[in-house]
Amino acid sequence: MGKPTGYMEIARMENPYRDEAARLHDSEDLHIPQPIDARRAQASRCMNCGVPFCQSDFGCPLHNLIPEWNDLLYRGKEREALERLLQTAPFPEFTGRVCPALCEKACNLENDALTNRDNELYLIETGFEKGWIQPRIPHKRTGRRVAVVGSGPSGLACADLLNRLGHEVTVVEHADRAGGLLMYGIPNMKLPKGIVQRRIRLMEAEGVRIMLNTEAASEIMEEYDAVALCGGAKKPRALNVEGIFAVDYLTAATRAVLSGSEPSIDAKGKSVVVVGGGDTGNDCVGTALRQGCASVVQLEMMPEPPVERMANNPWPEWPRTLRTDYGQLEAIHRQGADPRIYETTVKRLLPGAIEIVKLKGFDSIPGTEQTIPCDLMLIAAGFVGCETATAAAFDVEPNQRGNLMPANGSHHLRDNLFSAGDMRTGQSLVVRSLADGRAAAMEIDRYLKGDAQ
Ligand SMILES: Cc1cc2nc3c(=O)[nH]c(=O)nc-3n(C[C@H](O)[C@H](O)[C@H](O)COP(=O)(O)OP(=O)(O)OC[C@H]3O[C@@H](n4cnc5c(N)ncnc54)[C@H](O)[C@@H]3O)c2cc1C
Ligand code: SF4
Repeated sequence: MGKPTGYMEIARMENPYRDEAARLHDSEDLHIPQPIDARRAQASRCMNCGVPFCQSDFGCPLHNLIPEWNDLLYRGKEREALERLLQTAPFPEFTGRVCPALCEKACNLENDALTNRDNELYLIETGFEKGWIQPRIPHKRTGRRVAVVGSGPSGLACADLLNRLGHEVTVVEHADRAGGLLMYGIPNMKLPKGIVQRRIRLMEAEGVRIMLNTEAASEIMEEYDAVALCGGAKKPRALNVEGIFAVDYLTAATRAVLSGSEPSIDAKGKSVVVVGGGDTGNDCVGTALRQGCASVVQLEMMPEPPVERMANNPWPEWPRTLRTDYGQLEAIHRQGADPRIYETTVKRLLPGAIEIVKLKGFDSIPGTEQTIPCDLMLIAAGFVGCETATAAAFDVEPNQRGNLMPANGSHHLRDNLFSAGDMRTGQSLVVRSLADGRAAAMEIDRYLKGDAQ
């Protein structure tokens, strides 16, 4: 259970960010990893509570065995700790970097919570460094073949588990690189692309076949014993005015980072307005600043959140409080002020500018119009469901929310066709799509064994 007096003696310390002045000059990893002594001290703070909420439905969707691996890490048994972590976590090198750490918000220590995300990142990176992570090839194959459509986190997690269960798995991906939004969406500084490619190579060495530049068609339902649709949900919500969608902009930025060329959509020297105050908008802010924009503003329709939890949002729920993410911190450093303007939206485009207006609820307040400079408008206003072409290709009707969620809440759409990840649930989080991909794999395995027919 860690050190009995650990949390009283040792303060919570997350992996610090690199200094803004330095990190704005590159797209390298944002954080500075901490050495083993610091990690063990952080792990020692875990009290293995009677009811570990970090593992509950309020906490980690993968139900990671957090108190167990924190205790092993504290005792210096890093390899054993990693083994416990890998029981439930397929790719801790992704969640250790991009997970909002739902487990930490549900920790009994509340604002002083354990640093589970940094601890898990330490364990997996130590595993890679020390050569403990080696291809795990199943001893026996079942002879059953499964196609997974989409190589985002849900598709990879589904493929990984099915492969471990002995099935022959092919991942079909229409992009030129595997990873879904891990590759083309989440920026390099949050998740370096070499990390994604390292996992893809490992999965290939374990026997998973990955076909890139390939559009999935319904014929694969005849060729394979089961098909899992893991195509994501990145159909963007459009606005009343035209702009560039955030994922298109972020994809172009990542391509430029990987090829060392100029981005095809470049913020350099431009006044940038990001419409949408959420996490995707924040990634656009950080990217535009790295590209050398003249200025960046972020418009948010909702009111500014409270600094502390409200009474109707108690622990261990996710706190709906004000968060200032890395991109916003960088904008404060560069521009001297938070880039977010709340309860405001864009009204119309003007040459080299836009007109913005204040909102009350969803209604504009007449007389509050204002003109601000804008050479590049990025739309990060959320997502409205899955790519309709993929649903149509497999003759599945998306539900009212634009997702392929079977009416009974399972993963089984019909015949040998299944769905998982954001395509099934709507735009979510990496950790949730990993959990959903694994749940789909278990359902497919039961179907292949004949139990679920
Ligand atoms: C900009 C951005 C930043 C984000 N940052 C974070 C973050 O920091 N932390 C976090 O937890 N979550 C984050 N998210 C959310 C997270 O990335 C998603 O919830 C997660 O990637 C969903 O995984 P998925 O596998 O379901 O879908 P996706 O990652 O969208 O992958 C779907 C894949 O399917 C492929 N595909 C679709 N149709 C076909 C077809 N017909 N044939 C072949 N291939 C097809 C697509 O090309 C894509 O590669 C972010 C999302 C965005 C947009
Ligand atoms: S995956 Fe996320 S929620 Fe789960 S233990 Fe890791 S940081 Fe916590």
